[in-house]
Amino acid sequence: MKALSWKPVRRGAHFCSPACGRGCTFHEYRKAQVLGGILARQLGSGWKADVWENLGWHYRALSPCRKIRVHHGYTGGYYTAYLDDGQFAEHGTTPTTAVRAVIRSGLAYLSRMSHTMSGLQALHDEFSARAKKGRRK
Ligand SMILES: [Zn+2]
Repeated sequence: MKALSWKPVRRGAHFCSPACGRGCTFHEYRKAQVLGGILARQLGSGWKADVWENLGWHYRALSPCRKIRVHHGYTGGYYTAYLDDGQFAEHGTTPTTAVRAVIRSGLAYLSRMSHTMSGLQALHDEFSARAKKGRRK
């Protein structure tokens, strides 16, 4: 079966791809572009709006380094920032508080892992030496 295209098609007021099929409108697309632009500008220089279609037009802002994605909450009044592959996600009442919260989560994780990993290099080296000795027999 041939996969349906995600390239949106303009038909009158509609602007929707065959793969979506919801009947999205050009007005919804333009609204997502405008709101994405506002969100990106709220976050500052280098942030970019990203607009996509999937049963509706959606938007988010991407950080200059592209490691942080900020979405506006669907019910309004909050924002969610995702770090990297989405392992970390934090909310905030403003886009910047969400970004600060997700960076704090990432740094806290890094600190915990650093503590967990300290001293394990010696154990790794010991086990590696044992494995080498085992192979020589
Ligand atoms: Zn659609």
